[in-house]
Amino acid sequence: MLDIQKIRADFPILTQKVNGKPLIYFDNGATSQKPRVVIDAITKYYEEINANIHRGVHTLSQLATDAYEASREKIQKHINAQYLHEVIFTSGTTQGINLVTNGFASLLKEGDEVMVSALEHHSNIVPWQMLCEKTGAKLIVIPMNEKGELILSEYDRLLSNKTKIVAVNHISNALGTINPIEYMIEKAHQVGAAILIDGAQATPHLKPDVQALDCDFYVFSGHKICGPTGVGILYGKEAWLNKLPPYMGGGEMIKEVTFEKTTYAELPHKFEAGTPNIADGIVLGTAIDYLNAVGFENIQQQEKELLAHATKRLLEIEGLKIYGTSEKKTSVISFNIEGIHPYDIGTIIDKLGIAVRTGHHCAQPIMNYFNIPGTVRASFSFYNTKEEIDIFVEAVKKAKMMLS
Ligand SMILES: *Cc1c(COP(=O)(O)O)cnc(C)c1O
Repeated sequence: MLDIQKIRADFPILTQKVNGKPLIYFDNGATSQKPRVVIDAITKYYEEINANIHRGVHTLSQLATDAYEASREKIQKHINAQYLHEVIFTSGTTQGINLVTNGFASLLKEGDEVMVSALEHHSNIVPWQMLCEKTGAKLIVIPMNEKGELILSEYDRLLSNKTKIVAVNHISNALGTINPIEYMIEKAHQVGAAILIDGAQATPHLKPDVQALDCDFYVFSGHKICGPTGVGILYGKEAWLNKLPPYMGGGEMIKEVTFEKTTYAELPHKFEAGTPNIADGIVLGTAIDYLNAVGFENIQQQEKELLAHATKRLLEIEGLKIYGTSEKKTSVISFNIEGIHPYDIGTIIDKLGIAVRTGHHCAQPIMNYFNIPGTVRASFSFYNTKEEIDIFVEAVKKAKMMLS
């Protein structure tokens, strides 16, 4: 079992007071807090080895390059990618998805189909819509049910040899549903479609094994897994990454440049034009080391208990409805109280030092499905406690009293 007090001591921000009250941070779905080792590693990079990578022969450049590539290797091991060059540094999930949709623009034609699900974050909807506009391909949506689960019989029915790529999240940010991606990957491959998994919300809770999953692309963000903002990862199978054209042109991504013709660098550099986010790329490796030291089994155990406790306590409140009731879900609770706007609850409990997200959570189609403007979303991390949940539940009760 985790020693939660010891874990909490790793996170300087958790001792903050907000509006005069001890901070209770339940907005982990939006971004995670950072442990001291991560914060220190950023400073250390700038104090000790800051230099541009892959360019100079000088010592600092070599040290920075080695640290950057060592981080890539850590990530390769973490997600069990077969090859190091299948791990591409990006600025985050959004950029990873756009890199892939941009590449598919040269592969799709009118009549082809692109499939997303009703549970997606806007980041995994809008780039595919833009791709469809550009190519004349059709966007197909896998529907969901009242519990916030994808309807797999519909998925099976919608798949055909017209389907060129499926894009689906591993775990939903708005509802916490864990999608059956193993099944979905297998089915996509049966019709010859590629499949991209948006792992932004899964990677804080589990260690994806991209080879076991056999997905074609897997994307995630550093800032949701205790790492810095502005860095993320695109995993792609070698064959796909070779097939896709470069995303951006510039330095680092070329082999030879003349005004007549430029040839591109090998993977992974083909997709890493320009000076990358060196410091944060290196520190993403530190964050992954930290999470592995805590242990994903421990993380899951703690989060499972927090979810059960919070669900039980919140349902004591009359008129409170939870959206997303799949048995397979992570530590996210989206809810509303009858007759009260989610924003008003969020505002009142913020005064009590409690951070939750209110609104549509970048997933308007889900809110439209339930016919609501938004929800209050509390998302728990392994550094949260049952005591914090109890304070939160009392705060929600108080907000309800003030607002009704
Ligand atoms: C956060 C999130 C994104 C977008 O990630 P960025 O870091 O903002 O690029 C995409 N999909 C899901 C499921 C998310 O939770």
